[in-house]
Amino acid sequence: MPRQNLTAGEYLFHADTPSACGYLIEHGTIELRTRRGGTGREAVQIVVARLGAGELVGDISAAESGPHSVDAVAVTDAVVLEIDGEQIRDRLATADPILRMVLDGRVKRWRRMLTLLRGDDPAAAQSVVGATSLPAQGKFLLEEQLREALQRQQLEVRYQPILEIASGRIVGYEALVRWLHPERGEVSPEEFIHLAEETSLIVPVGEYVFDAAFAALDQLRADPMPFVAVNVSARQLASPGLIERVVARREALELPAGCIKVEITESQALDVAQVATLIELCHTHAIAVSLDDFGTRYSHLAHLHLLAFDTLKIDQAFVQAMFVSDKAMQIVRAIVAMARAIDAEIVVEGVETTAQLQFLGEIGCRFAQGFVIGRAQPLETVLAAR
Ligand code: C2E
Ligand code: MG
Ligand code: MG
Repeated sequence: MPRQNLTAGEYLFHADTPSACGYLIEHGTIELRTRRGGTGREAVQIVVARLGAGELVGDISAAESGPHSVDAVAVTDAVVLEIDGEQIRDRLATADPILRMVLDGRVKRWRRMLTLLRGDDPAAAQSVVGATSLPAQGKFLLEEQLREALQRQQLEVRYQPILEIASGRIVGYEALVRWLHPERGEVSPEEFIHLAEETSLIVPVGEYVFDAAFAALDQLRADPMPFVAVNVSARQLASPGLIERVVARREALELPAGCIKVEITESQALDVAQVATLIELCHTHAIAVSLDDFGTRYSHLAHLHLLAFDTLKIDQAFVQAMFVSDKAMQIVRAIVAMARAIDAEIVVEGVETTAQLQFLGEIGCRFAQGFVIGRAQPLETVLAAR
């Protein structure tokens, strides 16, 4: 990064000139100054900030490719490093929307303060305040509502049956959470789980689902005992004591070992060492672990030999393409053969037709899940159908 040496009294940049880059102060002190009362002799200079080593100057104008809003003057000899506006823009573009909103708010407040200090038109000051970023605002609101929904028990857990193809028996259910939003109706987990993962809300949401799953198991008692599989996201795995709490609930209800399973979706955030430890812990407590949505997104074959998953859940994209593309069909065959070779069970997800179901049975898939077998239903419906 190019450096600039400034002597005391030298201007780094002037207000209203185009900004080429931002600066990181390495040594010395830089003052940010504005003027009150125009640009003539009668104008009064106001110091708005005094910045030292490690602080950034001109970063916001560089990121916005806009003009500088203040003068920057070295008040001692100083050295600054130039930071390309592009670098700042890239980071802002990928930053969390809530962080961006916080920053946006600060920048707007800063600009408003400058407008007021300069004594400019108060209406102009108002217009600088402007509206905050809508997507981020929406997200904040949604997060608050989700927090409330948890308290008011507005999340509902539904149960989708899992079929053993050969016997035609329902052997278990996958717990799928829904948010019954008072205005928006049913919100899909695809939308709010992601939001919950970005905040710490995923931990209480996860606990809520486990509580519901155990309450369901308590009522589903039968011989043989069906299982309930609960989705756990990478962020939840980091929550200390997760499995211990699951085991404690199972023991308190005196439910048989094996009645609760865990599904983990592969994601970039999957920490192999952490998941390996978790699987080991699950296995000591007879909790089977499935790798969800296998074959999509971040599928790593390395995960299969490094991690002892009990089940692979083949993503619905494959079964849906199976009769459309011969390649997709060959991939399904190959995944089934591979799962067999590594002693993992297979559950095929998204089975929508009897033809698909029959074919899957013929190529050796033991379990299937999908609309042709049943949709995710409230517990009462599941109990009534038995
Ligand atoms: P998933 O775990 O892969 O769940 C299967 C999804 O496929 C469900 O969507 C289910 O309703 C849908 N599905 C099942 N059969 C069929 C079919 O035949 N055709 C089609 N087109 N779709 C089918 P859903 O309930 O919207 O859940 C979406 C995802 O949200 C889940 O994918 C899971 O990753 C996540 N999720 C759901 N509940 C939870 C939860 O309690 N915790 C966490 N961490 N994630 C959850
Ligand atoms: Mg799942
Ligand atoms: Mg899945």
